Amino acid sequence: MPHVVTENCIRCRFTECVAVCPVECFHASDEQLFIDPEACIDCGACIPTCPVQAIYEDIAVPEEYAQWVAINAERSSQLPLLIGPQTPLPTAEARRAELGF
Ligand code: SF4
Ligand code: SF4
Repeated sequence: MPHVVTENCIRCRFTECVAVCPVECFHASDEQLFIDPEACIDCGACIPTCPVQAIYEDIAVPEEYAQWVAINAERSSQLPLLIGPQTPLPTAEARRAELGF
């Protein structure tokens, strides 16, 4: 099942997930990433790389994040594809601390 980026990614964008993804399925807004459910091959490689536990397999998304399945499908179709890792946002370390990671 496709994987999904949830709200912990907002103001982070460390992009470790993009570095390990074997296909091109991450799309980016100014604040966070989204996974294209059509491109994701469900390898799971991105999950352990995320420093803020933002990524879940869609069947394992916690109830409070359920809306993110549809949000990823919609936003990934509207936003540019991200190729390769990027410099984290300036707010990334503060966001990680705020989330307790
Ligand atoms: S590693 Fe996690 S926080 Fe960083 S860009 Fe990917 S999903 Fe977002
Ligand atoms: S599960 Fe695999 S293919 Fe899908 S986004 Fe993560 S690394 Fe990429």
